[in-house]
Amino acid sequence: MRITVIGSGYVGTTIAACFAELGHTVTAIDIDEEIVETINDGRAPIDEPGLDELVADHVGDRLEASTSYDAVPDSDVTFLAIGTPSNEDGSIDLAALEAAAEATGEALADKSERHLVVIKSTVTPPSIETVLKPAVHRGADENEHVEVGMNPEFLREGSAVSDFAHPDKLVFGATSAWATDRLHAVFEPLLEDHDVHVVETDPQTAAMIKYANNAFLASKISLVNDLGNVCKEFGLDAYEVMDAIGLDDRISEQFLRSGVGWGGSCFPKDVDAIIAAAREDGYEPALLEAAVEVNDRQPARLLELLSEHVDLEGARIAVLGLSFKPRTDDIRNSRAIPVIERLQEHGADVVAYDPVAIDPMRERFPEIEYTTTAAEALDGSDGAVVVTDWDEFATLDEEFDAMARPVVVDGRRIVQRRDGITYEGLTW
Ligand code: NAD
Repeated sequence: MRITVIGSGYVGTTIAACFAELGHTVTAIDIDEEIVETINDGRAPIDEPGLDELVADHVGDRLEASTSYDAVPDSDVTFLAIGTPSNEDGSIDLAALEAAAEATGEALADKSERHLVVIKSTVTPPSIETVLKPAVHRGADENEHVEVGMNPEFLREGSAVSDFAHPDKLVFGATSAWATDRLHAVFEPLLEDHDVHVVETDPQTAAMIKYANNAFLASKISLVNDLGNVCKEFGLDAYEVMDAIGLDDRISEQFLRSGVGWGGSCFPKDVDAIIAAAREDGYEPALLEAAVEVNDRQPARLLELLSEHVDLEGARIAVLGLSFKPRTDDIRNSRAIPVIERLQEHGADVVAYDPVAIDPMRERFPEIEYTTTAAEALDGSDGAVVVTDWDEFATLDEEFDAMARPVVVDGRRIVQRRDGITYEGLTW
């Protein structure tokens, strides 16, 4: 098939290259010339395992990038993969996506065959009917050959290419059998090779499935963190408790690791957005609000534990791990940010280390000290907090001997306890 993908950011580039890998002919469209040049030079504009190789393999053959929407009418399907960032009140900012939807419609105004425009971006269900469909149809001058569908994306940063190739489910939100068939045709090669659940539904339900999925996972972690805090109060190990409840099939063993909370570009934004959308409709989603509150509380609890051992005023505190999770340099909504902010509020001198995320964090906190190894950060410090579970922190050992006061508060259960250090687990 011929596919156009509008927006070549994280999701857009991944799906464009992966569609080419499936055998489709793909044009990746972005307003950013640098991104377009990068792709046409055979490189991915973002850092993601395996993506550079895929782009290099297919550029000049089944994949090309462009700043123009000219390829849209000649394609069979168009995917919209534009960012939907948060507004101040947590709702999503649809301005960029609406503009792209309208421009896509304009490119299709004269098309005399049916064309499917698929929203890939994460959007609230009501916005499909109130903002996005109207934008496409307005742009297309109400051309009745143009139809709008929804196919939410579930890939995770750090394993995006493999997640695309091995989805646990595909959700097709469509308003006609023709549109559903078209989505089947796009993903046909994946469906042939793997046992994938396909959920066929309407676009609004498809959009809600994405939010419900992320809200459920984020809430599961917050519930585990809340219970973990209770375990800590009782002097119990939350991991022993959670390992046991994970044996219950209805609970499952996944996402039971308690710690300093969830971050990244999706969970916080998506939970905030669905709360804001529900509120706008007059409903207060109490459990989701509590999930956010527990998540906001975890960094403070980490520092409360540290201050039981160290007077933070004027103390040199090592922060180990800055990215929101290991194997990425993404610091968006990383728990390291509130941890550093609170340390500063308490008058501590922060020295931070991360294997890959120092540069982005330096932009956020230019005033703190950064080191190139964990050992340097620990050297002479009065305490350390672990915020990201990078593998290398599991092998830290004699590095702790160089601390002025060897107090370690672990927010991710990664450091090995040993004699000679005061070790506190956040929920164990
Ligand atoms: P992104 O910000 O990385 O990429 C968006 C791209 O769209 C940018 O390159 C931008 O230049 C381009 N763009 C903006 N306006 C345009 C226009 N009018 N025409 C053409 N291009 C335009 O965003 P992302 O992380 O890829 O996220 C896209 C959507 O997918 C969001 O709704 C997000 O919530 C959702 N999502 C993201 C992930 C993830 O892990 N990043 C996972 C699942 C779903």
